[in-house]
Amino acid sequence: MSNYVLIPAAGSGSRMGCELPKQYLPILGKPLIHHTVAVFSAHPAIARIFVVLSPDDALWTEFDSPKVAALRCGGTTRAATVLNGLNAMADAVNEHDWVLVHDAARPCLSRELLDRLLAELQHDPVGGLLAVPVADTLKRADSHQRVDHTEPRAGLWRAQTPQMFPHGLLRRALEAMGAEVPTDEAQAVEFLGLAPRLVPGDGHNLKVTYPEDLVMASLILGGAEMNQ
Ligand code: C5P
Repeated sequence: MSNYVLIPAAGSGSRMGCELPKQYLPILGKPLIHHTVAVFSAHPAIARIFVVLSPDDALWTEFDSPKVAALRCGGTTRAATVLNGLNAMADAVNEHDWVLVHDAARPCLSRELLDRLLAELQHDPVGGLLAVPVADTLKRADSHQRVDHTEPRAGLWRAQTPQMFPHGLLRRALEAMGAEVPTDEAQAVEFLGLAPRLVPGDGHNLKVTYPEDLVMASLILGGAEMNQ
């Protein structure tokens, strides 16, 4: 079974509050998405990387690797972008091949975490995802933004990406959701009655959503470069 990567990169990043979609914001002299793609293109166990762009994306610049291909079929939601990408890559892959879906906006995934995900799921019957146990105390708000009650955090994890599932299974799962929009791939697989495996990630694999995340991502990537 081969490992493929699908990077949904058709979001506008409106929560960043700037003109440029967040995947193109500069970090350490390169567009953010170049850092995201680099960890996969350097990994010998990854066969190909499909980056799914919005059809009118004018900012993509070709990557200097024959493993990277751009697909211009992004949709209006992340789930639609992923499903369009899975359909577009279908001729190139086998239904049992693994697809690792990874947010364009997570540029700090380490080689170590990628190795762990690949090793722990290679023989798994369902697939799974990187995730981190919740460390903070969780408050449920009432309609006046006051604490209604404290939610027990035992057993709660924060889902990250990559989320790794067989191509055929993931395609069926996303198609079966219909009008429901899952916020990640695992949720669609759960709706089929399956239980994706949680593989411990770490806080460095953050998603750049707000401006302060960009500062943190630069520090993490800068530190990783110094250690190489
Ligand atoms: O907006 P959010 O941070 O949840 O986006 C997560 C990922 O999904 C990003 O990589 C973004 O580019 C992608 N996305 C997409 N198509 C959309 C919306 C988001 O590819 N319509």
